[in-house]
Amino acid sequence: MEAGRTLRVAVIRGDGIGPEVVAAALPAICDAAAHDGVAVVCEELDWGGERLLRTGAAMPPDALDLVRAHDAILFGAIGHPQIDPAESVWSLVLPLRKGLELYANLRPVVGWDGLWSPAREGVEVDFLVVRENTEGEYSGIGGRAHAGTPLEVATEVAVHSRPAIERIARCAFLHARERGQLLTLATKSNVNRHGYGLWDEVVFELGAREFPDVALEKNYVDALATRMVARPESLGVVLAGNLFGDILSDLGAPFAGGLGMVPSANVAPGLDVPGFFEPVHGSAPDIAGKGVANPLATVLSGAMLLRENGCPAGAGALETAVAAAIRDGAVTADLGGRATTAEAGEAVRAALPAAVTP
Ligand code: ATP
Repeated sequence: MEAGRTLRVAVIRGDGIGPEVVAAALPAICDAAAHDGVAVVCEELDWGGERLLRTGAAMPPDALDLVRAHDAILFGAIGHPQIDPAESVWSLVLPLRKGLELYANLRPVVGWDGLWSPAREGVEVDFLVVRENTEGEYSGIGGRAHAGTPLEVATEVAVHSRPAIERIARCAFLHARERGQLLTLATKSNVNRHGYGLWDEVVFELGAREFPDVALEKNYVDALATRMVARPESLGVVLAGNLFGDILSDLGAPFAGGLGMVPSANVAPGLDVPGFFEPVHGSAPDIAGKGVANPLATVLSGAMLLRENGCPAGAGALETAVAAAIRDGAVTADLGGRATTAEAGEAVRAALPAAVTP
């Protein structure tokens, strides 16, 4: 991004620990953007569970137009004790992901020096889950018949289309090429022959046609789950459908230090829409309001936001500062520290390397 420019960020703090982690992370994210000579201009959007209870809708009818006026969206969490979890998710996160066609969900899992991880001593963990974000098992197509009777039946239709598979696969191949890593395709085509059979075909065809330089392998998702736990260092980029990608990235979270450490980006390479950046964790109602939530997943989501928006120096500065905060023990209880959410965010901000005016 050109120096002297502004980055317009829509900030949705949301529910539970969302407002706390965003409040702690945002100052460091804004300061870091200065490393690229960029000023962050935030617009606060009070969308989420409280709004849903107050007005009947988690966001206004023109929500998509409102966010399209920004370069990026920073999101905390959704989930309210008085609202059914499915209603929460379908009232905000999924409509934004689908409405903006944010077809790629990127979830990096990185092992940090100084944090406990289930990985064997000396093993380096650094993999990226690339998850299809618009269809699959989360297409929302289905229904119930004979409701409330002993014959009740429900369908939940998984949709897998060639264009959607091809565009997410291209995104995964590009990441594997850039990272110089193996690409592993996670499917279950030995059982789901139709949907995941199509995945296998499309991904291998694309690889042979456009990415002969990228090593590609297929791993059935159940075997891959075992491998992720036993040999996480053998993974580079993992390409998965909507459901498998969701589960695999949570499975990988302990290698990064837990759910409080895993960031994510919902983006649409090639489309002119704002990306949606959020920690992988949810609203964590058990710790909400206590000031103990870990803000680092949100800080790292901010690093992804900056990198996707042409601020690589700021993104790198945030990651360096997170490593320093961990090294100094300025971390929250989930990482074995005593810092509050606000103190952990402030420690990252204080550890930002000095900006060099570009
Ligand atoms: P939701 O329904 O909104 O997804 P949840 O509690 O079911 O909420 P998460 O919010 O993802 O799921 O978290 C699961 C648990 O992990 C939490 O109950 C909390 O104990 C822990 N946790 C999640 N995020 C953090 C965080 N940022 N800092 C510390 N602990 C966290």
